[in-house]
Order: sequence, then structure tokens, then C-alpha cells
Amino acid sequence: MKLTQTFIPTLREVPADAVIASHRLMFRAGMIRKLANGLFAYLPLGLRSLRKLEQIIREEMDAINAQEIKPTVVVPGEVWKESGRWEAMGDAMLRARNRLGVDLVVSPTAEEAVTALVRDDLSSYRQLPLSLYQINSKYRDEIRPRYGVMRGREFIMKDAYSYHADEESLDKTYRDMGRAYRRVFRRCGLTVIPVQADSGAMGGSGSEEFMVESEIGDNTLLLCKSCDYAANVEKASCKPDFRPPPSVEAAREASSSTPATEIIDTPSVKTIGDLCVFLKTSAKNFIKTLIYRAVNVELDLSAAPGCASLERRRPAPGAPELYPEAFFAVLIRGDLDVNEAKLAATLKAGELALAADTDVERLTGAPVGFAGPVGLTGLPIIVDQTVTAMGDAVTGALAKDQHYRHVAYGRDFTGWLVQDIRTVKDGDLCPHCGTSLYEKKGNELGHIFKLGYKYTRPMNVSYLDEHGKTQTPTMGSYGIGLDRTLASVIEEHHDENGIIWPVTLAPCHVIIVPVKYNGAVKTTADTLEKELEQLGLEVLVDDRDERPGVKFKDADLIGIPFRVVVGDKNLTASTPQVEIRRRGKVENRLVSAAAAAQELAAMLRAELAALNA
Ligand SMILES: [Zn+2]
Repeated sequence: MKLTQTFIPTLREVPADAVIASHRLMFRAGMIRKLANGLFAYLPLGLRSLRKLEQIIREEMDAINAQEIKPTVVVPGEVWKESGRWEAMGDAMLRARNRLGVDLVVSPTAEEAVTALVRDDLSSYRQLPLSLYQINSKYRDEIRPRYGVMRGREFIMKDAYSYHADEESLDKTYRDMGRAYRRVFRRCGLTVIPVQADSGAMGGSGSEEFMVESEIGDNTLLLCKSCDYAANVEKASCKPDFRPPPSVEAAREASSSTPATEIIDTPSVKTIGDLCVFLKTSAKNFIKTLIYRAVNVELDLSAAPGCASLERRRPAPGAPELYPEAFFAVLIRGDLDVNEAKLAATLKAGELALAADTDVERLTGAPVGFAGPVGLTGLPIIVDQTVTAMGDAVTGALAKDQHYRHVAYGRDFTGWLVQDIRTVKDGDLCPHCGTSLYEKKGNELGHIFKLGYKYTRPMNVSYLDEHGKTQTPTMGSYGIGLDRTLASVIEEHHDENGIIWPVTLAPCHVIIVPVKYNGAVKTTADTLEKELEQLGLEVLVDDRDERPGVKFKDADLIGIPFRVVVGDKNLTASTPQVEIRRRGKVENRLVSAAAAAQELAAMLRAELAALNA
């Protein structure tokens, strides 16, 4: 392949909006171009690397018996209405209506589309387990696309969906997928951190994310120095720094020496910080009471205080019943924060947020800042575990400028539900080994889920088991973002001069740089190109009429692993020689021009073997 015959428009200048290395380098190396905000086109060089990544993923999926299919990108809105996600996806989903008035969706993910396909042809348990995958474009209408292909609106995803007769079979495929993902990322030369993740609104019983460390990461990870514990903050738990009482009765007994509750006037004191100063104590002695409004709550609230007459409806036939709106009081120790992902998972809520001030006043009878559990009726109280160990606390007194002191859990109030809903932070203790946890920012490259019956039930998927009985299959879902993975490889493998591709993803293996493309130099370069191609190597020859310095700069920028410089001087030696350099290394090596192809093939084989091992 000759450079003059390819479309590789390299650039010296950096686009103004490119703040991360991968965005800058993919742009400058002529791999991608921006068509509009969040919409990127891959040019020939970028597409070559993307295709290699696809192939690695394909090989690893095929190795665990997942089968590739090619569903459409545009799917009927109907299947999204069946699952109940037509509404839940909100504005992130791009919708259209065709000339016949039919609702259409540009797929943001494909649980519905693939499940609808499987439904038509699944009849017997003999067809299970079944794993299908696609490598296809998706669209999510991100509010703020940025960082190039790292967070674009249109992106390429490998998404797989598996269907099973039982939990055990789902577990096996889930584990196989986890192992396949680890192999994919290793073959890409990526350092990935697998973390426990929140399966939240997706439901299901297990979820693992594959993260890369990144300053611009939109996830916070908590990691242990001593053991392999790693979790997304949405899911992270920690070893309590207190001893929770085993029961409400035990809590009541433990606070037997607490003085009787009394009201204290706290004029113009609103925040916990103000209160700490006012009462000369620490935030650890306060119980924070937050009022949350949750939407589409799946948890059964029929026995919860104040919820007996709440509206409940079924968004789609076969889907679980939901409460469109419900309010909750949430209690947590004053020095801690509520983890809204954990809270949403506890309530099986579609969305939740702090209630509006007017709702807080209506529900607590007091202005914001004076809510407390003592005497609070009419809504369910969710108690974080930390609060159960509080035997002498300060809380709001449900009246303006008043607080209670000497409040004890078990004696003065209890909750409807006790749950771990705290946000774990840097310095909290590892739930496995007790060592301090530390935080890192991460970007998610892959995510695997056990979904259970979330889609198969409302979408009426069924098969006949070995006794001829109709059954619903359980399901898993598994995604990898390809653009993001490619960008992350560049984030991990570059220097100030450009990209340093791992051999598995490099657009070409070798770049031949003739110092001047004519005479013996040209002949040698062309011969070497042919020899390398015959050995199965992919070669780019910089046949441009440019100064060597310009050619070297571009070779460094696009990051092809092996560079061969062909120059007059080395060719006139008794044995004609060429100069080989591994991108990212400083030393040049002179090898005989005749042996260069074999030498390069051996170097490539060794590197491929190490990554693909
Ligand atoms: Zn640990």
C-alpha cells in the first residue's frame, strides 16, 4: 500500500475541542473526522484498526458459542412499548415516525429487538442455551457528547443476548462472557479493571463492568490495596466502622441509658454544619432525614405506611406493576451521603430525586431542614444501617427552628426498611478484608448483566420444556463499546509524538520510509514491501515527495509498530542494509536488506503471540 494512493489526511494542528490524547491523535493521524457534534466518520486508517478490534471480539465471542447476527439499526417502537422501555428511555432514544405513522427507534441497545427475533423461532428447550451477538451501530442522544469517539452520539457496540432454561445455564454463560471480555481487552493491550456494578433498573442478579482508569472517566471506582475487591461507587459497600445491633430490640436495649428525648431551639440553624457549631458536636451524631420522590417504583408498597391507596399500574401486559410516583423518608448518619443508585435498586425505582421543597413541607409539616423520623407518619422510612447504631442522636423535630436531642433508634423510631444505602468513599474499609479503600476515576468499556425475566416475561417469550410444559427463558445481556475501546487503547499507548499501536490493532504492521523514493532506494523499498506482503504482513510505503523529517513525524504520529528506513548510505555498504525501529523505542537497528522481511515477520509474530496468548 502506497501512502500517495491512500486517504490519510494527517494534521499538524490540534482541534480546539480535543482535550484528551485519543481525540487529538485520532484526528491528527487522519483516523477520524467529525461530521457534527457527537457524530464521527472513520477514515481508511481508523477503519482498519476498528475492523481488527471487531475481529478480536468476533473470535472471542465465537469461541464461547455465541453466534453473530445482523439485526436492523432501525427497529419498530412497538417492541419498546412491549417491554415498557418506550417511556423509560426518555429523550436519550432517537425516535421517528414513518409516512404510515409507524413509530420507529434508532437502536440505543437491542434487548427488545433481539428478544422479539428469538420469540418467533424459539419453541423447545433443546434450542437453549442460545447466545446471539451483533457488532452494529447504536445511537444515544447524549446531551453533551465530548472527548471524540470516547463519548459520541453514534457508536459501535458489540451486544450479545443469551437465553436459558435455568439460572445455572445463565451463570455459566455469564462467566464465559466475563472471561471472553478479559481476553478481548488483554489482546488489545489494555489494562482493564473488572468491577462489581449496580444492575439497578436493569434488574437481575449480577452485573460486572470492565473499566479503564481515566481522568475524564464518568465513573468512580473503589478499589482495595490488599485484595481484589473493586466496585463501582454505585454498588460499592464497606465494612461498617461501627457494630450494628442485630435487631430493633437489641438497639432499644443498647440505648437504655440514653436520656429522654427533648426539644431544643435551633434558631437560624439550617445545615448540619451550622448545627455542629451550634451544639458543639460532630456530624456523626446527627441523623440526616431526606425526602425522596421516586418514579415507577416496582417494590411492593402495599404494607408501607401511607402507601395503601397509592396508584399502581402495569405499563405493559406481563410487565410488573409499578407505582408511578411515591415518596420516601431516607435516614442516614450526618457525615455520610445517600447513594442514590443503591436507593433506586432497593426501591426498584425507575428514577428518583430529592423531593421538591413544597412536597417536603406537605409531607413533614415543616420547612426543608427540619425533617426527622420522630413522629413522622404518612410515608415509608428507609433507614441506612449506620443509623441503627445511633443510640443518642440529634434530628429535626418536624417544626421550624427546632431539633430533638437524645433520639435513639429502636426506642424513639424505627423504619419500614433497613438497608445499606451509603455512598462509600476514599478511606472507608474494604468489605472483604477491612483495608482502606481508595478511589479512581474510570471509563466503562464493557458491561455484562444477568437480566432474569425482565424482558422475556413482558414480551411473552416461551418454550416447551422436556415435560411439554410452557416456560419462560431467563436472559443475559453483554456489551462492549468499540469506539471507546479503541480510544482507550490510544490513551494507554501513546507518547508526545503520537500513537504507539499494539500489533493486534495497528492499522498496518510495518511502515517503510524511503528517504527519497527513487533509484536503488525505491527498488529496495518496493522489494521489501512485496516480501513482507508475501509473509502476510500489512505494509504502508511512504512514497511521498517529502523531506525525511516530515515522513518520520507522520510515521510516529500514526503509530505503526515497525518502521523501516531505506536510505542511500546504508544501501551502498558491502551488504546493503536498512534501519529498523520499533515505535516507542529509541534504538535503531541495521539489518541486511535481504533479511529484513524475515526479521520483521519474526518480531511481529513474537509480539502477536505475547498479546494473543
Ligand atoms: Zn480488600
